[in-house]
Amino acid sequence: MRLDGKKIIVTGGARGIGKCVATAFAEAGADLAIVDLDIDEATKTARELEENHANISIAIKADVTKPEDVDAMIQRVLDKFGRLDVAFCNAGICMNVPAEEMTYEQWKKVIDINLSGVFLTAQAAGKIMLEQGYGSIINTASMSGHIVNVPQPQCSYNASKAGVIQLTKSLAVEWASRNVRVNCISPGYIGTELTLNSPSLQPLIKQWNEMAPLNRLGKPEELQSICVYLAGDTSSFTTGADFVIDGAFTAI
Ligand code: NAD
Repeated sequence: MRLDGKKIIVTGGARGIGKCVATAFAEAGADLAIVDLDIDEATKTARELEENHANISIAIKADVTKPEDVDAMIQRVLDKFGRLDVAFCNAGICMNVPAEEMTYEQWKKVIDINLSGVFLTAQAAGKIMLEQGYGSIINTASMSGHIVNVPQPQCSYNASKAGVIQLTKSLAVEWASRNVRVNCISPGYIGTELTLNSPSLQPLIKQWNEMAPLNRLGKPEELQSICVYLAGDTSSFTTGADFVIDGAFTAI
C-alpha cells in the first residue's frame, strides 16, 4: 500500500500516535504537514521525517480549537503542496476528574479539543476535498467512545470520543457521493511516551494489562497499517467505518 506523492496533514503530529502514524505515511511515500501546539517538537518530527525518508515535511503551529488557526494551517498546506489528499485529525487530550467535581471549563476544554477540534479540522479539510472531488479523512476516536474505562473518571473524554465516532459517520454519509471518505480509528490503551513514562500511571497500566485479553498495551506502531490503508486508494469502498484496535478489550 503506497501513498507516493500524497499530501497529508496530521494534527497532534509532534509526538505519540500522530508522530508514529505520520512516520508510516512518510515511509509509504507521502509528503506531510505536522500540525501541533508544540511547534518545537513538531519541527523536530518534520526534520526527522525528511532525514529518514525522501519526502517533504513541514511543521505548522496551530490550535485545532481555533477556527482561524485551522483555516491558516489548511492554507499553508495548499500554498506548499497545492492540494490536500488526506487529513488525520488526531490531536486530543485526556482528563481524569470525577464528574461531580468537574468544572464547566474542564468539561469544555476536553470537548473543544477532542470533538470540536476534529470537527473544525475535518470541515476545513473537507471543503478543499469536496472542491477537488476526492479525499480521505481519518479521525482518532478511542475505545472510550464505546465503553467506560475503569477506574479513572473520564466522562468528558468518553463523551468526546463517542462524539467523534458519530461525527465520522455523519460526515461520511454527507460526503460519500462527492468522493470524500471519512473513517475513524478507536484505539485501546496504547503505550506512548506519555503513558509509559508517567509514574502515576504505572499502577493503572498494571491493572489494564491484567484486564486486557492480550495482557498488554498496544504499541503506536500497531495503528500504522490501518491508517495507511485508510489514507490510500485501496480503501475506496471504506467510508463511515470505525476501526476498533484494542486487543479485544471491548470484546469482553
Ligand atoms: P500525546 O499527548 O502523546 O499527543 C497528542 C498531541 O496533540 C501532542 O503533541 C499535543 O501537543 C497535541 N495537541 C493537544 N492539544 C492540541 C491542540 N489544541 N491543537 C493542536 N495540537 C494539540 O497523545 P497520544 O497518546 O499520541 O494521543 C493521540 C490521540 O489518540 C488523541 O486523540 C488521544 O485521545 C487518542 N487515543 C490515545 C490512546 C492512548 O492510549 N494513548 C488511546 C486511544 C485514543
